[in-house]
Amino acid sequence: MTAEPGRGSPGLFGEEGGRGDLRSGGSIEVICGPMFSGKTEELIRRLRRSQIARRRVVILKPEIDDRYAADHLVSHSALRIPSLTVRTSADVYRQAREAEVIGIDEAQFLDEGIVGVCEALADEGKRVLVAGLDLDYRGVPFEPIPQLLARAEYITKTLAICVVCGAPAGRTQRVGGRDERILVGSSEYYEARCRNCYAPPEEE
Ligand code: ADP
Ligand code: ZN
Repeated sequence: MTAEPGRGSPGLFGEEGGRGDLRSGGSIEVICGPMFSGKTEELIRRLRRSQIARRRVVILKPEIDDRYAADHLVSHSALRIPSLTVRTSADVYRQAREAEVIGIDEAQFLDEGIVGVCEALADEGKRVLVAGLDLDYRGVPFEPIPQLLARAEYITKTLAICVVCGAPAGRTQRVGGRDERILVGSSEYYEARCRNCYAPPEEE
């Protein structure tokens, strides 16, 4: 078996058919990082493979994320996959009932109940894939992602490219708008920045 380039050995997360295929026991996989780091692309890639493996796949995103299409996950590179919209973590549980594989994008916009819901679904033997921002624009951990990271079997941290210097970027810089924590938008409000080029917002 050959490793995928840049992805380490096969089966590092619950890939269908790989060593890490926990078909009998469920698992939680978290994909986290700043904006533009490829979280949605990676989530779509894993979900497509599950669909190819003929798993029953349910793909969800919170209603607040209305940047592109209400009925698709769409990456900044225009990859897309059909999805359903949820308002609450209870909606996630309801929608996921019949699924074998569940994908949730922008999970930082869901309520804290998502942690228990993901645990319950994984305990039921399902493969739960969760993507979301690990830090907000102030550089503060963005709940509930840290709670999910602590409970996940598999964690992938994606980095973007710093728009200032070209280094790997783990931060999201807000470059406009007001100071509410949730301001949905993409390049008109946010940039990927490395540690050196990131400047935290001034405290009020
Ligand atoms: P995320 O879900 O983490 O916001 P996406 O998967 O939606 O990321 O988009 C990743 C894509 O965004 C990259 O493949 C690339 O085409 C594009 N992109 C735009 N700006 C950047 C950047 N600063 N660094 C890396 N990729 C970027
Ligand atoms: Zn930089």
